[in-house]
This record gives sequence, structure tokens and C-alpha cells, in this order.
Amino acid sequence: NRNKVRIATTSLAGCFGCHMSFLDMDERLVALLEHVELNRSPLTDIKHCGPCDIGLIEGGVCNAENAHVLREFRDNCKILIAVGACAINGGVPAMRNHFHLRECLEEAYVNGVGVENPQIPDDAELPLLLDKVHPIHDVVHVDYYLPGCPPSADEFLKVLGDLLEGKEPALPKNLLHYD
Ligand code: SF4
Repeated sequence: NRNKVRIATTSLAGCFGCHMSFLDMDERLVALLEHVELNRSPLTDIKHCGPCDIGLIEGGVCNAENAHVLREFRDNCKILIAVGACAINGGVPAMRNHFHLRECLEEAYVNGVGVENPQIPDDAELPLLLDKVHPIHDVVHVDYYLPGCPPSADEFLKVLGDLLEGKEPALPKNLLHYD
């Protein structure tokens, strides 16, 4: 439908919690979907982001594939929104930035409790981890930030509602939180 606002969503180094919070709109999702159609998203089967009005990005950037997907979204979405603490500042996964990547890999695959057949995976199919976890604004330009871990369904509704009405999105203080 050409009149609908096209939205794409993805999870990079996220936990899918921001997507769950998006679904927390519950029955209000039905009303939203009268005005919105979903493009590439974990909720659809579309493999690549097509031309979209809004891209919602959950998660920071922790590996090469994350950076690739993020650039695809930036190239195709008029408005890109960093959703949640991970996309905004790296979030809890960025705690690994206090350690060398090699230490993290060895802990997980070689020295960790319960590891059998210790070896660090190196198949070419696997995306290489970056030395550090990055917020998405380290990689692409970001238009808006939706804070929270995760942002509440009310926050999603407010920001998407504002954008659908052609207004500058604004969160009232009672919806603004970082935890
Ligand atoms: S911000 Fe919180 S809920 Fe969202 S992806 Fe990160 S850890 Fe999960």
C-alpha cells in the first residue's frame, strides 16, 4: 500500500528486548498497522531493507555483519532511530570493552567453565567480532534516539505517532528513562 508509512526494524548487538517492548503495544499495534507497513524486520520474512520512511535499530555494533546491516538501513531509511540503551551507547554488551577481545574469546571458547573441545570458531561464514562494541552513531548518522532498556511501548507509540503526524518527536518527562 503506497499510502502507508514504511518501517524497517532490526536487532544488531541487541537482546530482542526492544522488539518485545515494541510488541507490548498490544492491541494498539492493530491500529498502528492501519497506517504502517513493516519492511525488513525480525517480524517479517523480508531479507533486505528496501526504501523506507523509518528504520528502528536495536542493539549496538559488535561485529562486521552488524556494521553491514546498519549501513544498509541508513542507505534505505529516510529517518533512522537508535532504539534502546545498546544502540544509543553500546549498553550492557559494551561492558566487554573493558577487556581485550582475545580475553573474551578465550574465556568463552577455551578457558570457560564447561567448555569441551576448546577452540575459537574461525569459519569464514562467521562475522568477525570488532575489538569494541560501538553505539550505532559511531558508524552512521542517527536522526533520533529513543532511550530506555528497553523503551516502553508508550514511548514507541509517542515517537511513531509524532512522526506519522509529521511532527518533531518529543518525549514527555514521564516517559523518559534510561533503565
Ligand atoms: S536496550 Fe536493553 S532491551 Fe534493548 S536490546 Fe539492549 S539490552 Fe535489550
